[in-house]
Amino acid sequence: MFFELSAEQHALRQKIADFCARECPPDFETSLDQSGVFPGDLYRKMADNGFLRISFPAEYGGTEGNILDIVLVAEQLAGNSYTAVYMYLVNIVFAGSLILNCGSDSQKKELIPKLLKGDLQFSFALTEPEAGSDARSIKTSATPQGDCYLINGTKYWTSGATVSDYIITVVLTGLEAESPKAMSILIVPAESEGLSITPIPKLAGNAYPSCEVKYRNVSVTEEHILGGPAWLNNGIFQLFQTAEYERICVAASCLGGAETILKECTEFAKTRHQFDKPIIKHQAIQHALADMATQIEAMRWMTYHAAWMKSTGKDCFKEICMAKLFCSETLNDIARKGMQIFGGRGYSMEYRMQRYLRESYLSLYAGGTSEIQKNVIARFLA
Ligand SMILES: Cc1cc2nc3c(=O)[nH]c(=O)nc-3n(C[C@H](O)[C@H](O)[C@H](O)COP(=O)(O)OP(=O)(O)OC[C@H]3O[C@@H](n4cnc5c(N)ncnc54)[C@H](O)[C@@H]3O)c2cc1C
Repeated sequence: MFFELSAEQHALRQKIADFCARECPPDFETSLDQSGVFPGDLYRKMADNGFLRISFPAEYGGTEGNILDIVLVAEQLAGNSYTAVYMYLVNIVFAGSLILNCGSDSQKKELIPKLLKGDLQFSFALTEPEAGSDARSIKTSATPQGDCYLINGTKYWTSGATVSDYIITVVLTGLEAESPKAMSILIVPAESEGLSITPIPKLAGNAYPSCEVKYRNVSVTEEHILGGPAWLNNGIFQLFQTAEYERICVAASCLGGAETILKECTEFAKTRHQFDKPIIKHQAIQHALADMATQIEAMRWMTYHAAWMKSTGKDCFKEICMAKLFCSETLNDIARKGMQIFGGRGYSMEYRMQRYLRESYLSLYAGGTSEIQKNVIARFLA
C-alpha cells in the first residue's frame, strides 16, 4: 500500500492553509460564533479560489480531483473554520456529489457549473422531527396533482436552508404503509410558495443555520425529480450513493479539527507556568499530548486509507464507517483533553477551547450517529 501524497496534493494542502490563514483564521470563526451571521463572502472566496471545483469532471468546470483531494480540503478547512467546512460539506460533498452521481444530464449541466462558481447553494433535507437515524420512517410526501407534485410535511435540521437556492428534499412518493417505501429526491427551489424556514438555535455553528423547513402544498414538476422521472420512487438507491462521501469527509473534518486542538494545546502548555515550570514539563501533560498525537496519527491513516480504497474502486463502506466512527469519537475525546490542559481557561469564552468542544459534538451525529456506524460495521462481521 502506498499513501504518499502527490506533489499536487501537497500544493493543494498548502494553498488551502494559506487561504484559511488569510480569510478565516481561528478568530474569524470566533466572531461568527458570537454574531451568528452567515459569511456569504467566505463562500464566494472559496469558489473564487477554485476549492469547490476539485472533485468534479472538467465538462462541468471541475478539475478532476479524486476523493483524497476532497478529504484534504475538508481536513484543512476544518482545522480553521467550522463554518467553512460545513458549507463545503453540505454544498459540495452532500448536494454536489448527489447531483453528479444521480442527476439527469440536464440537471448536471444546469446546476453543477453554477455550484462550482459559487453562484448557487444547496441544502439537503432528509431528517424530520420523527425520523432521524431511521430515515425510512419519513412522512413528508409528494402527491401527484395534474402535471405537478404537491409536497407536504416538515423537515428538521436542514443545514444552510436559509441561504440556499435549492433544498434537496427526500419525500415519500408511495403509500406510507408500503414496504419497502417508495421514496424520491426532489430538487426544490428555495423560493417556492408554501415553504417556511426557521433556524434552530444550536450548540455551535449558528452562522450556518440548521433549520426546520415546513412544506405546505409546495408544487414541483417532474423535472425537479433528481435523475428525472425514471427515478421516481427509487430515491433510496440514490441516497446510498452519498453516504460514503459524506462519512469520509466528516472523518476528514474531525482530523483537521483535532490537529488544531493539539497545536493550540502544545503552544498553551509551553507558555502556561505552574509550580515554577511550564506545564508541558509536567509528565501528566506530556502524556496527554502524546495520547492526542497518537490518536491523530490513527485518525489520519484510517481516513486516508479509506479514501485511498474508495479512489481505487475497492469496496470500502465498512472502512469508511470505521473511520467516521473513530474520528468523530476521537475528536470529542481530544477536545475534552484540550479542556483539561487549558484548565479553567478552557471554560472561559475568551479562549477557543470551549468552542472546539462544542463544535466536536456535531460530528457525532453528522452522517449518522456512532451507534448507526457500529450497526453497519457489525453487519459486515456477522
Ligand atoms: C447541527 C446538525 C446539523 C444537521 N444537518 C442536517 C442536514 O443538513 N440535513 C439532514 O437531513 N439532517 C441533518 N442533521 C440531522 C442528523 O443527520 C441527525 O441528527 C442524525 O441522523 C441522528 O438523528 P436524530 O438526531 O433524530 O437522532 P435519533 O435517530 O433519534 O437517535 C437518538 C439516539 O438513539 C440512537 N439510535 C437510534 N436508532 C438506533 C439503532 N437502531 N441502534 C442503536 N442506536 C440507535 C442514536 O444513535 C442516538 O444516540 C443535522 C443534525 C445536527 C445536530
